[in-house]
Amino acid sequence: MQFIDLGRQYQRLKDPMDKAIQRVLNDHHYIMGPQVEELEEKLKEKTGRRHCLTTSSGTSALYLILKALDLQKEDACFVSTFTYFASAEAPALAGGHPVFVDSDRSYNMDPEDLEKQIRAVLKEGKYRPRLVIAVDLFGLPCDYDRILPIAEKYGLFVLTDSAQAFGSTYKGKSVCSYGNASATSFFPAKPLGCYGDGGAIFTDDDQLAEKISSLRVHGKGKDKYDNVRLGINGRLDTIQAAVLLVKLGILDDEIEKRQVLAGRYQEALADDYDLPLFFDNRSSALAQYTLMVKGNLSRDKLVEAMKASGIPIMVYYPKPMHMQTAFQDLSYQPEDLPVSLDLSKRVFSIPIHPYLTEGEFQSICQNLITVSQSLQEEVSHEHLDCQ
Ligand SMILES: *Cc1c(COP(=O)(O)O)cnc(C)c1O
Repeated sequence: MQFIDLGRQYQRLKDPMDKAIQRVLNDHHYIMGPQVEELEEKLKEKTGRRHCLTTSSGTSALYLILKALDLQKEDACFVSTFTYFASAEAPALAGGHPVFVDSDRSYNMDPEDLEKQIRAVLKEGKYRPRLVIAVDLFGLPCDYDRILPIAEKYGLFVLTDSAQAFGSTYKGKSVCSYGNASATSFFPAKPLGCYGDGGAIFTDDDQLAEKISSLRVHGKGKDKYDNVRLGINGRLDTIQAAVLLVKLGILDDEIEKRQVLAGRYQEALADDYDLPLFFDNRSSALAQYTLMVKGNLSRDKLVEAMKASGIPIMVYYPKPMHMQTAFQDLSYQPEDLPVSLDLSKRVFSIPIHPYLTEGEFQSICQNLITVSQSLQEEVSHEHLDCQ
């Protein structure tokens, strides 16, 4: 069994995919070929944004947006601590000062803690609140109705890290249409993935889009040999754009299949695990289906037992950002952000790709239920031994 079965997806798309890739080979327009522009147009339509700039990865999408803001050392960048490393790496690399925000039970940024962290920074007076990076973790949109007013109150730029959430909607609109700018990733395992690295930036801000477009090609001015600022090479390859144009055609169908599977997991596993939360006005692309062992049960033992049964499971994420060695200079203690610390000890993700067979689904559920029961028995025996 595969955690994400991209082989089965390729079998579904083989004919149009082979043709689309072959067309790029025939035309040999490998950099900024017509497929890149066509993809950017389609993505603009899908998100309702004025501008889309495709990039070499999700990380470069985040970095280019932040680079365009000319961050200073004193600029506090509020970012979820329970996320993939790139969300926190990008603001630090772009010259800002990361301040981590705790999660709530939805796994996403806790709006209440965001305001608490902003006030703490203002009170200390050493840094100046500048922006917030809201991560739509595992595909679930953040609580934008609460986050956006807080950002507005303190004058913060809002960047949504929707790397795991292309295709998700909040109140019926694409997640990539919220905030001042959004970044997404086309890494193969994301809801919309290419056959290598890729990403995209969305914004309605004309000036910001123009600056990012320059930064994406070494700070180009009138042409690429007129350089008006320092940038990077951050473009998406034509061949990846061609792949994405084909995959875009099945994205909504794939998301629907994931949502059906999620609904069935919610029913099958409700007694044995703490399940992910879903909300009426937020639809999730379900990049991951992430659940938690109950209370004091051992996740390590669960992972071991599932692996022994041949069921691939992953732990996203075992270490929040405030506990990463790369950020040790910021001097956080694990307990400083207690909810994410607890989540990081209990979460695990199970296969939810759209090509999962009924047999695979049943086997995942049965194994999870059996393992949970044996872990619970173990704990109650230990309990008796202690008495
Ligand atoms: C994958 C991911 C990124 C980075 O995307 P890449 O394309 O791998 O560079 C950033 N943020 C989050 C939340 C991600 O999951």
